Amino acid sequence: MTKQNDRIDIQRVESQLQQEIDALSKMVFDSAAWDTMYEAAQQRDTQWFNSDYVIADALQRLDVNGWYLYDTQANIIGGGSFNNAYQPYSPTILETPNLLIENNLIILSGDIDNSQSELIHKVRFITIDKTPAVTVAYNVTKSDGTGEFVATLLLWSFIDEDFVENLTPGLANDISFYGTDEAPKYRDHLIRVFGEKKRAVVTTQHKRRLYLGVNDQAGDLLFVLSIASRERTYDRSLFDSSLITGLLISGSVFILFYLYINQQVLRPLRKLYTLVNSAISNNDFSARDEYFGNNELHQLGRGMNELFTLIENQRDEILERHQKLKHISNTDSMTMLANRRALDKHFAKLASDAELASQPISMIVADIDHFKLYNDFYGHDQGDKALCEVANLLKENTQPSNHFVARYGGEEFVIVLSNTDKQEAFKVAETLRNAVVTAQITHQGRADLSYVTLSIGVASKAANEAFDSDSLFKIADDALYKAKKQGRNCCVAG
Ligand code: GH3
Ligand code: MG
Ligand code: MG
Repeated sequence: MTKQNDRIDIQRVESQLQQEIDALSKMVFDSAAWDTMYEAAQQRDTQWFNSDYVIADALQRLDVNGWYLYDTQANIIGGGSFNNAYQPYSPTILETPNLLIENNLIILSGDIDNSQSELIHKVRFITIDKTPAVTVAYNVTKSDGTGEFVATLLLWSFIDEDFVENLTPGLANDISFYGTDEAPKYRDHLIRVFGEKKRAVVTTQHKRRLYLGVNDQAGDLLFVLSIASRERTYDRSLFDSSLITGLLISGSVFILFYLYINQQVLRPLRKLYTLVNSAISNNDFSARDEYFGNNELHQLGRGMNELFTLIENQRDEILERHQKLKHISNTDSMTMLANRRALDKHFAKLASDAELASQPISMIVADIDHFKLYNDFYGHDQGDKALCEVANLLKENTQPSNHFVARYGGEEFVIVLSNTDKQEAFKVAETLRNAVVTAQITHQGRADLSYVTLSIGVASKAANEAFDSDSLFKIADDALYKAKKQGRNCCVAG
C-alpha cells in the first residue's frame, strides 16, 4: 500500500518534469515565422536566424540556455548559448557536429521517414560541463508538410536548482535536486527512472524521502529529484500501532466508563432492586441502604429510604388504629369492660383450645339489685356512674390472667373463670359481692337496704367435662334467679 502510494507520488514528480520539457518543446513553435525560418535554413541565412528569429530575452525568461539551427550535416546555421550568469557560452557538445551525431542529439536525414508529414523530435538528457541538461530537437520542414527536411532546431536548458524550482508549484512538497556528483549516492533508493517503463528498483523511502532518477542516453545516472514522503494514515505500521493504541484507549475508556457506570448507576440500582424486592417479598420495610452520591439514582435511593420510613410509620399507625378499632368493637364504651361480642369470642377461643377446654371452667352472672329503682331515684346519668363503679369493682377484684369480665347487658355482668372449679368460683363470687357491699354505693331508692348490692349465680364444669357456654350460662342464670328469689345480695351456685 505504502509502496504504491510512494510510486504515485514520485510519478507526479516525473510528470512535472515531463511538463517542463513539453513547455520547452512548445517554445519551438511559439514563433509565427516557422515557414520563414524554413526558408532561412534552406538559404543558410544565419543573419536572419540570429537577429530575427531569436528573442533572447524571452528565452532567458523561460530558462532556456541556448538555441541552434543545424543543417542536415549537423553544422550550425545559427544560434548560440548562455551560461547561468547569462554570459555568452559555447558548449562543445552542442557546437561540434561529430559530438552531436555521436550523442544522437539532433535529427539527421536518416531519422526521417519522408512519407511522414508530422514533425519529429528528440529529447535528450546530457551533461554539459558536469551539469545535467536537457535538449529538445525538432526537424524543420515546411509547415504544410510539403517541404523537404532542411534543418534541426534545438533548444536546451541546464537542469539545476532554478529549473527544478519551476517544477515545485505543481507539487505539494518541495523538490530536492541532486546533481551529477551527488546523484550516485541515491542510486539504490530510486523508485523510478524518468521515462523508463519499468520500475528500476523496488526500494521505496530513504530518510523519509522518495527519489526519481534521470539517466542519459548511455544509461548513466545524471541527476536525482526527491520529495519528502508523506505521512500516511494507512501506513501499515502506523495503522497497526494506532489500531492497538486506539483499541487500548477505547478499552480503557470502556473499563473506566463501566466502573463509573457501575459505581454511579448499576450498584445503586442493584442495591435498590434488592432492597425493594426483599421488602416486598418479606413484607418488611425496616431495611435501609446508604447512598452518598449526588446523581439521580442516589437521590432515588435516599427517596426510597424515606418512602420505606413512611410506609413503616403508616403501617404502625394503621396497626395502632386497627388495635384501637378492635378494642372499641370489643369494649363496652361506658364501663370499658369487654362487651357481649368480646364475650362470645372468648367463649369461642375457650372452646377451640383443647387444653383450656379440658380444664375446669366456671361462670359468674352478676346482676345489680333493684337498679330500676336506682335510676328512678337518682336519674339515669347517676345510674350510669353507679354502673361504672360496680364495673370497676368487678375488674379490681378479679385476676386479668384467667378471669374474663364482661358487661352482658344492662346492669348484668358475666365473669368467665378459666381453670377454676365451682368451689373457687364461688369464693370469687362472694369476694365480688362483698366488694360491692364494702363500697357502700348509696341506694336510697330501695326499701330493703340503702346501698347497691349484687345478686350472683355461679355455674361450673368439671375438668374433662365438655364445655358448652350456652348451657353453662343457663345454669348460672338459673342460679342468679334463685339468688334473687332468696332475697338478693347473695351468691348461689347452680
Ligand atoms: P332486680 O333486682 O330484680 O334485678 O330489679 P331491677 O330493677 O334491677 O331489674 P329490672 O330488670 O326490672 O330493671 C333493670 C333496670 O336497669 C332497668 C334499666 O333502667 C336499668 N338499666 C339497664 N341498663 C342501664 C344503663 O345502661 N344505664 C342506666 N342508668 N340504667 C340501666
Ligand atoms: Mg337485670
Ligand atoms: Mg337487676
